[in-house]
This record gives sequence, C-alpha cells and structure tokens, in this order.
Amino acid sequence: MTRPTVQDDTVIKVALVTLAALCHCDPAPGAAPVDGAAVVDGPALADAAPEGLQLRPHAVNIVDAEAAREVREYMLGRASVLPAGARAFLAHFEDSYDFLYVFTDGPVEGATAAAKFSVARRPLLQGLGLSRAASDPRYPAGRLRGVVGVVLNAVGNGPTLHETLHYWGMFFDARFGFGRDRDTNFGPHWGLADVAGQLGGFDLGTVRCAAPPDAAPPCAPDPDGLLRMTAATFGPNANGGDARAYAPLELYLMGLLPRAEVPSPITVWEGGHFVSRDPRTGRMLFEVRATRTVTLDAIVALHGERPPAPPEERAFRGAFVAFSEAPMPASRLDALERWAAIFGDDEPSRSLLSFARATGGRATMNTRLGPAR
Ligand SMILES: [Zn+2]
Repeated sequence: MTRPTVQDDTVIKVALVTLAALCHCDPAPGAAPVDGAAVVDGPALADAAPEGLQLRPHAVNIVDAEAAREVREYMLGRASVLPAGARAFLAHFEDSYDFLYVFTDGPVEGATAAAKFSVARRPLLQGLGLSRAASDPRYPAGRLRGVVGVVLNAVGNGPTLHETLHYWGMFFDARFGFGRDRDTNFGPHWGLADVAGQLGGFDLGTVRCAAPPDAAPPCAPDPDGLLRMTAATFGPNANGGDARAYAPLELYLMGLLPRAEVPSPITVWEGGHFVSRDPRTGRMLFEVRATRTVTLDAIVALHGERPPAPPEERAFRGAFVAFSEAPMPASRLDALERWAAIFGDDEPSRSLLSFARATGGRATMNTRLGPAR
C-alpha cells in the first residue's frame, strides 16, 4: 500500500529544538547575495520579479491566499495534499523541479507535524516493497515527484532530508518488524531497528544490557522474560534533523548504495517498550520481548533487489517556496534562502548537511531557482 501522506510527530520537533541550538553556531547569513540578478531589494531590480513574488536565488515567496491557506490546513492535518501550492508555483516557474518544498509563512499554532511528505508521481521502483506506481491526479501533470509541506519556524532548518527520503520509503513489509514498538505504529519509519538513519532507529554499537550493567548484547532475559537494554538517544521515526547523513540502508532505498555495501543483518527489537530516559546521560531504557535479525537477503527475497539508480535519478532539482497572504518579511525569506542554499550545497554549514553531503556525494539536489514569469 502506498501511503499518500507521511506525518512526523514530536520526535522531529525535539530534533528541531536540538538543532536550533546548533544553528546558532553557524555564521550569520552573508550580507551579499550570491546572485544579485534575482534579488528584489535593489531599486534597479525592483521589477525583476513578477507581481506578487519576492525572489531570492534559492527561495521564493508567492503571495497566494489559496495556497497559503492550503499549506496551513495541511500542517494542521486537515488536508493531505498541496495541489494549489504546486499549481501556484508552476504558474511562475517552468516544470523542471522534482521536489517542491512548500512552507507556511510562519509558525502554525496547533500544527500536527513539523513537516509532511506527499507523493505526486513515482514509477514502480523495484526492491522497495511497493506494489504499484504512484500518481496523484490532484497534482499537476509533469516532472514533480513529491511535495513536502513544512512549518516555517525560527529554527531555520527542518526535517528536509528526512521528508525527501520518504519518496523512497520506508515501505518494507510489516512482517520484518520495522516501524513499530509494543504499542505504537510509527508508519514508514524504522522504529526499533539498528538503522540509525534519517527515518529513525538506534545505533547497535551504543546498546548495553541493563544487567549486568554495560554488557554488550546479547542480553540475558530478566525473570519476567523481558530483555532490558539501554541505547544512546534515538528516535523511532527520526534522528538528528538535517545534521544526520543517510544510513547505508537508506542509501540502498534510494538506489545509491549497492546491496553488498549495506550492513546486514539488521537487529529489530520485537515488542519493545520505552521505559525511561536518563536525564544525565540521555540513554534510553527499553523492555524488549525478543530481538530478531532481518537480513538484506530476506528483504531482497520478498521485494526483489533495488537496482542502482541511473544518472537521472541522482541529480534532482528542488524548489523552496513560501506562500503567504501578504508579502512575508524579508528577514524570514532570507532565512529560507539560507536553508535552501545549504540544502542545495551552495552554502556551507558547520552543523547542517546538504542533500549531496547526506548522500556521501552520490546524488545532488539543485535548489537554485530558474527564472520566474
Ligand atoms: Zn517521516
């Protein structure tokens, strides 16, 4: 089954708050724009952008009441797609973008997620657990693969890498045990598995038995039959915001890493239950019914092997657009510009990874905007 929409809960918000502190380490945005031709501030360039647009090299603010309302409703959980935003963007820009990152013009009180992905079009990619191609007729026909809605907040970065990865996963069969713990279904995320990637999961190297203390797994069950283990802080559905590179298994989903280079087997905690978190060390205590291992061979046996992505599946274009009912403050658009430039690998950051860096240089995401009409 293809999920049209992916929601990300408070774990990502926690990650964002953590990143907010990191972000302050970064140098302030450069005063000089990279591409003066696309800046609307200068009087000589005041008419360079069409009416209703504020244009930066990597970000645009479009005044469009319908699209602005739509993305707010989307973040409030009242809409599942962003077609008005896609149409409003394509009314001004050519159809040459794979991913559209649609932002609110500020915080949204009551938002159910920091960001959400929805697929526009995706061929039937082998090896991912998909049963059919995806094509949402509500989105305009064309090149668009997916649309990410994001709440623009003071943090200045978000689960951009995470949301983009949702185009490729995680869609493995539920029988493998990914994406859930004893009580919760985390949807298309890794859950309690040692993937330690953008879609969550723990790092097996940090796991220790509760008793005897500090012993490495395998752990002996307690008299009640449960395994008690601790792990360094992780999220079952997200890790590290845009500061975390894609895990090898995630690169495999994207067709960027061959099967032979993916660590296997993967440890999955069955019936896992989060008990507590040590406020001093951040280590998390879990009760686990059983550990199991899932081999990549077993995944391939069920879903087929993910073929290496061809060149056109490694060089993407993404567009960052914020919709508002009135022109948004320049400072907010500047913050979005910087976010987009970092994501597109046009501006360095000490704490945040570009899409290209997160893939280890195996793919690119060009976020530079073309001319607007
Ligand atoms: Zn997610």
